[in-house]
Amino acid sequence: MKIFYDVLVVGTGVAGLNTALNLEDSHSILVVSKDYAWECNTFYAQGGIAVPISDEDVFVHIKDTLEAGDGHCNPDAVEILCSEARQSIQGLIDKGFQFDCDEKGKLLYTREAAHSCSRILHAGGDATGRFLHLFMMKKLKSPILYNTQVTDLLISDGKCFGVRVSHGGSIFNIYAKNVVIASGGVGSLYEYHTNARTISADMHGICLSHSIPLIDMEMMQFHPTAFVQSSAVRKQLLSESLRGEGAKVVDKDGRRFLFDYDSRGELSARNIVSRAIFDYKQRTGKEVYLDLSGFESSHFRERFPSIYYNMKVMGYDLPNQKIPVSPAFHYAMGGIKTDLNCAVEGVENLFAVGEAANTGVHGANRLASNSLLEGLVFSDKVAKVLKKSQKYSHSDMLFCEKEDILMIEGDKLLKNELRSIMWKYAGIIRNGKELEKALIRVEDMLRLPIGKLLRLRLLTSREIIKSALNRKVSLGAHYIRGENG
Ligand SMILES: Cc1cc2nc3c(=O)[nH]c(=O)nc-3n(C[C@H](O)[C@H](O)[C@H](O)COP(=O)(O)OP(=O)(O)OC[C@H]3O[C@@H](n4cnc5c(N)ncnc54)[C@H](O)[C@@H]3O)c2cc1C
Repeated sequence: MKIFYDVLVVGTGVAGLNTALNLEDSHSILVVSKDYAWECNTFYAQGGIAVPISDEDVFVHIKDTLEAGDGHCNPDAVEILCSEARQSIQGLIDKGFQFDCDEKGKLLYTREAAHSCSRILHAGGDATGRFLHLFMMKKLKSPILYNTQVTDLLISDGKCFGVRVSHGGSIFNIYAKNVVIASGGVGSLYEYHTNARTISADMHGICLSHSIPLIDMEMMQFHPTAFVQSSAVRKQLLSESLRGEGAKVVDKDGRRFLFDYDSRGELSARNIVSRAIFDYKQRTGKEVYLDLSGFESSHFRERFPSIYYNMKVMGYDLPNQKIPVSPAFHYAMGGIKTDLNCAVEGVENLFAVGEAANTGVHGANRLASNSLLEGLVFSDKVAKVLKKSQKYSHSDMLFCEKEDILMIEGDKLLKNELRSIMWKYAGIIRNGKELEKALIRVEDMLRLPIGKLLRLRLLTSREIIKSALNRKVSLGAHYIRGENG
């Protein structure tokens, strides 16, 4: 049987859902999702969505984004992000999405690190991602094929014809005139991370296996404040807005040591805070805490209900108790190389959008809350391009339904070893010797008999390590201790 659509979207996060929502009245769409639709980073997003508060603020938002990106952003991509932000957000509001407002119905903005002003919209207090995801899912009319993992792209002669998927124990092809990769980042490659369990870099690995370039893969962002003392794979994030609204980072003696590293203290860019916490813990052996005592209890519960509840389940009474924190992997600035319309370089009919893609918008370091915005703005763009594209025409192109071996015994052990290698050697603080060591072990693993899914993880990990080795000087989120290793 040949299954075909005009557009096949890989992923049910903000980027994938918004692409589908924009196109479904004009095109036949299928969305595939590796797990339940909500098991994505969008669903777990807490803080909010950055948006310029006025026309004048567009320039300041651009400046803040470029500064956070440490001179490594593509200025054209940043201009698109910030100048089209208000339109994308208004589109969302017009469709009925409700951001948090005051009693008079005025939008409430909060502030996050490295933003010059309060320009972060939020919903449900600290449940912006969950509210946004639910809203988009309710609006979506197109079918979603759940528990469906893309295991390959159907590419021939520089054109993409669809995807191969694993679903319900069988492997088959789905054909489409255009494929949009909206598969998110790479979180599960790292031992400590804040990402959904579905985010394991398969699509990045698939791209590499077809010689599709990834770019800036050394640029991996670590969130400064996660609660890692739990057995859950996805570590509980403690949103940046906590610090934006007054939470302090202290050691066990109550000392605000961040000022030793940067005069902005808690409001420094997140790579600076992550590194400072990591370094301080290593040097002093002291535990580091988030001190929320400046918050009034009922206000805290109302403003941060998810964090309050999730930490209560783990035995913490907030804001009265300090929470031990550690940095954890959070966001991939690097990704599949695309142009400003999200077209993947070198392959026709293939697009990438959201965290999976790299337009250069985040440079070497993403400004907080710019990623949900990226998902919205750039999926609006990709949809505009696809609206004008041809529909599916019965192509003669048929690909074999190859039975790949996805997993074999022993993969899990190697997968956990890989996570530990990536955390220790390709993490927050890197050096040449350790990166070399990591590369040798990853190359060794690639030579072992392993399943395809582990191979894809290894290919992406190797790319991160190689990119880190190639960048000899620290930049943004990529930090080499004692330059040149
Ligand atoms: C805890 C947390 C808090 C955050 N808070 C904020 C915030 O406040 N503001 C902000 O701007 N950003 C925030 N971020 C970042 C932001 O949430 C993500 O960058 C953004 O949601 C990514 O959206 P996306 O659509 O690109 O990918 P995702 O939302 O991650 O969706 C990826 C989708 O792809 C699917 N998928 C992956 N691989 C395959 C495959 N092989 N086959 C089929 N499907 C596949 C997944 O199942 C999933 O449906 C946060 C991230 C986390 C983890």
